[in-house]
Amino acid sequence: MKVCVLGAGVAGMTSAYYLARAGHDVTVVERNAGVGLETSYANGGQLSYSYVAPLAGPGVLPKVPPWLMRRDSPLRFSPRLDFFQWRFCLQFMLACNSAQSELTTSRLLRLSFYSRQLMHEMVQSEQLAFDYVRNGKLVFYSDATSFRSAVATMEYQKSLGCEQEALDRDGCVALEPALAHVAHEIAGGIYTPSEDAGDCYHFCTSLERILRTGSNPVSFEFDTQVTALTRDGERISHAETNRSPLEADCFVVTLGAQSVFLLRPVGIDAPIYPLKGYSLTLPIDNAGAAPAVSITDHKRKVVYARLGDELRVAGMADITNYRADLDPARIEVLVRQVKHTFPGSANFSHVSPWCGLRPATPRGTPVIGRTRYSNLLLNVGHGALGFTLACGCGKIVTDLASGREPGISLDGFTLA
Ligand SMILES: Cc1cc2nc3c(=O)[nH]c(=O)nc-3n(C[C@H](O)[C@H](O)[C@H](O)COP(=O)(O)OP(=O)(O)OC[C@H]3O[C@@H](n4cnc5c(N)ncnc54)[C@H](O)[C@@H]3O)c2cc1C
Repeated sequence: MKVCVLGAGVAGMTSAYYLARAGHDVTVVERNAGVGLETSYANGGQLSYSYVAPLAGPGVLPKVPPWLMRRDSPLRFSPRLDFFQWRFCLQFMLACNSAQSELTTSRLLRLSFYSRQLMHEMVQSEQLAFDYVRNGKLVFYSDATSFRSAVATMEYQKSLGCEQEALDRDGCVALEPALAHVAHEIAGGIYTPSEDAGDCYHFCTSLERILRTGSNPVSFEFDTQVTALTRDGERISHAETNRSPLEADCFVVTLGAQSVFLLRPVGIDAPIYPLKGYSLTLPIDNAGAAPAVSITDHKRKVVYARLGDELRVAGMADITNYRADLDPARIEVLVRQVKHTFPGSANFSHVSPWCGLRPATPRGTPVIGRTRYSNLLLNVGHGALGFTLACGCGKIVTDLASGREPGISLDGFTLA
């Protein structure tokens, strides 16, 4: 079957991988000159299989007003005359309760565990070069209340199959000595040995290299902007582009935050809004002063991953618009936080700043699966977990395209 994958981010690349392995004739269409150049480029690098709890949690709403008052806040809101922005905010607020948050967490764990298994199989069977490490992750908390609530969440997640351990301050520093400078700020931490990390962009380029070779090579159409989906009754007949129209037996939409612009005109309302985030990549100067395990600073909502000889630092969520333009003030805040938490770890005169648009849904669950069109599949809305969930989602759309039952239930992930 001829399958057209729209978008060459990490969701598109894993979809193309599993589709090609299933024997389909795959073309990937991308507006940029290469793969993984938008949100999948310099993300936090965390393969965060056990840390999937949604942003919309029960304790979040009271924190929002103080966050909005602070310049260095992890969350920033720039109101627009945009129905979809306000709808996102309203639906997000409605999702901020324990029942929804626990339901979302259990659904995401189902998908993330599936993705972990597939990622481990892929790492075993393919020659991927993306600074992949199985180094575990420590989330540290700066106040006793947040730590207590994290321990309660850990107990709940244990019942869902997560293997995690609560550590006191000394335990955190013993595990990650580079935290010694901020030991006095640590109330405790949760360690998850089974978390991985890697460079998402290099994962995408590795997949491209693999997919271009072999007995069933994938075609890549770069510099090609998809402008519309054309319907013919219950099917999508072709995708209009700035070049020639593309015909296929099946179309898989993996356009990240931009997906809505092609889906809305054909009557599909995926509840996605961009949450802009920022990252820094710094060359590590002093290996002993940089973290070896992945770290999350829960209070500041900043994640740290060691990728080869570089330190990747990511965080912040700006609810603003669809433009991935860098805000120097936000970058400065991140630089200050790294200098504070891991002083002397990296060369701060060679900082590579970046920002990207997380394709977020209010509840935090991606939208995967069939649509009202028999040959149109969605793999969108992965929010802050697109790298983590990429293998599972790519395999699911492949099974659906091939007429097979997916490996896990899609309850909670399909369009209403
Ligand atoms: C700061 C930050 C940190 C993050 N950290 C992590 C992390 O640690 N772990 C994790 O799992 N996730 C993380 N994420 C989330 C993750 O990066 C995203 O969920 C993921 O990259 C989304 O992948 P995607 O393929 O859906 O979208 P994208 O990577 O954006 O890919 C979509 C592609 O579609 C193309 N496209 C769009 N419109 C068109 C069109 N009309 N025609 C042709 N092509 C088009 C784009 O150019 C793009 O290449 C982070 C995100 C950010 C912003």
